[in-house]
Amino acid sequence: STIIETHDISRMYHMGSETIHALKSVSIVIQKGEYVAFMGPSGSGKSTLMNIIGCLDTPSGGRYILNGKDVSNMTDNELAEVRNKEIGFVFQTFNLLPRQSALENVALPLIYAGYGKSAREERAQRVLESVGLGNRGKHKPNELSGGQRQRVAIARALINDPSIILADEPTGNLDTKTSYEIMELFENLHAKGNTIIMVTHEEDIAKYAHRIVRLRDGLVESDTLNDNITSFA
Ligand code: ADP
Ligand code: ADP
Repeated sequence: STIIETHDISRMYHMGSETIHALKSVSIVIQKGEYVAFMGPSGSGKSTLMNIIGCLDTPSGGRYILNGKDVSNMTDNELAEVRNKEIGFVFQTFNLLPRQSALENVALPLIYAGYGKSAREERAQRVLESVGLGNRGKHKPNELSGGQRQRVAIARALINDPSIILADEPTGNLDTKTSYEIMELFENLHAKGNTIIMVTHEEDIAKYAHRIVRLRDGLVESDTLNDNITSFA
């Protein structure tokens, strides 16, 4: 079934007297369970599109349908609610709270979802185990490697069982070997039925996705299925 539909979405920014057309007209349909990479040169509109898909921003024109709901004209509060329910974010810089343990970082979104302490910890522990960090829950971010920090961030993104995982340059701060380990984890999540959208400028990383959408100057330049899918033993 369809999870994301953008219909001719545009996004303009006004800078003094100048108008920047960050997105001109973008129509993309993504099915539940797809694993998509967004590529394109700097300034092509990747961040703007990810912000709209992640309900951090709304388009200037066109329509965005998420899970059958038109979110293009929602208020900030309505968007926040959709975002907390539907989207798990993964960032290049991990964005973990430095004073909190791995377990606390992962459990954090559950506070807003209204879970009690023991339910939060139990659930966070289970998700940490699912990303291979079951024995690292008590560690603070600075006691973990880059790859482990990104796994914690991925566990936090998964904790509310989101419809979509949005990852912006998830391997941008990781060495090659660790990057491939994170891609292997994404492949496992994809195999379990998760919908994943990631932005990357690295071809070696993009080829792990099953579909590559290339943006240029605020337009979709190409949208292709990846026939060169890397598989894992
Ligand atoms: P990418 O992620 O592909 O580098 P962006 O979506 O960040 O592209 O940017 C697309 C265009 O929109 C660029 O010209 C950028 O400078 C501009 N832009 C992005 N965000 C803003 C903003 N908040 N205000 C003004 N211009 C912006
Ligand atoms: P990325 O590496 O993800 O493309 P950028 O450096 O392009 O990051 O943008 C970082 C943030 O700043 C984004 O949220 C983008 O929307 C915003 N941004 C990009 N260009 C501009 C701009 N010219 N003016 C204001 N904000 C911008």
